[in-house]
Amino acid sequence: MSEPALSKKVEKSKVVVPEGLWTKCVSCRQIIYEKELIRNYQVCPKCGHHHYLPAISRIELLLDDASFKEINSDLKSGDPLNFKASKSYKMSLKEAGFATALNEAIITGEGKIDGKKVCLSVMDFKFIGGSMGSVVGEKVARAADFAINKKLPFIVVCASGGARMQEGMLSLMQMAKTSMAVGKIHENKLPFISIMAHPTTGGVLASFPSLADIIIAEPKALIGFTGARVIERTIKERLPDGFQTAEFLLKHGMVDLIASRAEQKEIVSQLLGFMGY
Ligand SMILES: [Zn+2]
Repeated sequence: MSEPALSKKVEKSKVVVPEGLWTKCVSCRQIIYEKELIRNYQVCPKCGHHHYLPAISRIELLLDDASFKEINSDLKSGDPLNFKASKSYKMSLKEAGFATALNEAIITGEGKIDGKKVCLSVMDFKFIGGSMGSVVGEKVARAADFAINKKLPFIVVCASGGARMQEGMLSLMQMAKTSMAVGKIHENKLPFISIMAHPTTGGVLASFPSLADIIIAEPKALIGFTGARVIERTIKERLPDGFQTAEFLLKHGMVDLIASRAEQKEIVSQLLGFMGY
């Protein structure tokens, strides 16, 4: 059994791709020119697979040029539980900051989509799996208040593994805080649109993005609360194929539409137009 795995390993190491020039698509395994992938907002030009896209690039994708003004950029997570696992929470925060050039797993602010002013919040999966601790929750709540004060449509782009375990119960409490915050968006009759990227899972899915008026998903995004294996073990039944994919959820009514990155700005702009913006 171990031999084929070994030869596969050797074969893999033979194809050395110079870093920063070419990259391999995780879906179709074809070699793509790195610059082309960046130009294409990390969508594979050969098979259309949507790879991880940094929050900063998502802002560029959705908003008019240079229209974004960040709010609450200085909020940073503390370490309330003095948490240590394989590494300390402080170290995880530091490394995530270096990897993403962000202070937290979400950027919030205002900008324009085809000239229409909006409040936009974007999560970054590379910041500790886009997890939601006290600061992410606080930034979502403050962004909602900001949108209400300025009477702006509220738009969120999510990419998250769920609640941030390093803050324990404090992370779980963000569900109540963010749900209430977006509840006020509804009370004030402001549009709320969420875009669920791969993955949108766990305590984040259960908090604010699933409460939107219109839910857009990226193609093939994993969207779900609990991992499929845990559900199967609990209910002792096999789950249908494609369970927890954007396409399955569209078919079953949880997602309103699936939009590739190339069409997201135009679709959000159109939807805002329908709602009188
Ligand atoms: Zn591909």
